[in-house]
Amino acid sequence: MSATVLSGRELAADLRADAARRAAKGDPPRLAVVTATADESSAWYVRSIAGAAGKAGIACDVVDLGPDAPVETIRRRLAELGADDAVHGVILQTPLPGGATLANLALAIPPGKDVDGAAPLSLGRLMAGLPAFAPATAEAVVALLDRHGVDPAGRRVVVVGRSTVVGKPLSQLLLARNATVTVAHSRTADLAAVTAEADILVAAAGRIGLITPDHVKPGAVVVDVGTNPTPDGGLAGDVDPAVAGRAGALSPVPGGVGPVTTALLLQHTVKAAGR
Ligand code: NAP
Repeated sequence: MSATVLSGRELAADLRADAARRAAKGDPPRLAVVTATADESSAWYVRSIAGAAGKAGIACDVVDLGPDAPVETIRRRLAELGADDAVHGVILQTPLPGGATLANLALAIPPGKDVDGAAPLSLGRLMAGLPAFAPATAEAVVALLDRHGVDPAGRRVVVVGRSTVVGKPLSQLLLARNATVTVAHSRTADLAAVTAEADILVAAAGRIGLITPDHVKPGAVVVDVGTNPTPDGGLAGDVDPAVAGRAGALSPVPGGVGPVTTALLLQHTVKAAGR
């Protein structure tokens, strides 16, 4: 028996179409993506955001400050974009030059333009249950579960990964949906014993093949957030493909969380523009 495929492509297409319809109700909303890295997978991701934005009628400016950009230059540019009335959404791409952290620099992005929920104020509002843009990847996991009729309420969910971008905000979104949430990380003792308790297992560790069949309760729903570059230029998730023989449902990489994340960034930008 093979797991049901939790595809994100159809949901992403619907979200993009909705964003395009709302964007067309006035001047094109404008998104700025600030990058300061030579990282190839980051460049690929930025191109995919810009391409999807263009197709949805959203203007996208890629502001490339280069991998050697001083932290102060990045902060100043974010503040300028934050103050620019023509710009509705601002994303700061990672990785960042040494010494810079996303949460610290994102302090310069006003909450109303923080469309990837990176700023501490957005994260705090999310935790307090107040309206805020959630980090798009974390929101994408919940949206993918919803789309496939998986209700996290009352279920045991294990999230592997505690980053500020994915694991922590996702745990808050799932708590808000009445799941019983455990967050595991690199210092978790006996990871397999912890994850095998999960009705819903989310892998967001950035380690190819970390989750093997031994980590999975038979019939569990498994969401793979990992997007790890492979030596042959492809993408691999955190979940070993053999898990499909044990899980009840599994999201693919690529084609699962990734496209939904990009589509939600467009949705957030359109919302930030007041549509
Ligand atoms: P990150 O900042 O590197 O965080 C990774 C987390 O995983 C950390 O909390 C780390 O624990 C934990 N971890 C690492 N190795 C582990 C292990 N062997 N066992 C248990 N936990 C382990 O990464 P991230 O930014 O959250 O991204 C995670 C993955 O999601 C990456 O593959 C990334 O490319 C992908 N991603 C995908 C999307 C998308 O749209 N699909 C968007 C963003 C990220 P410690 O805290 O103890 O170090």
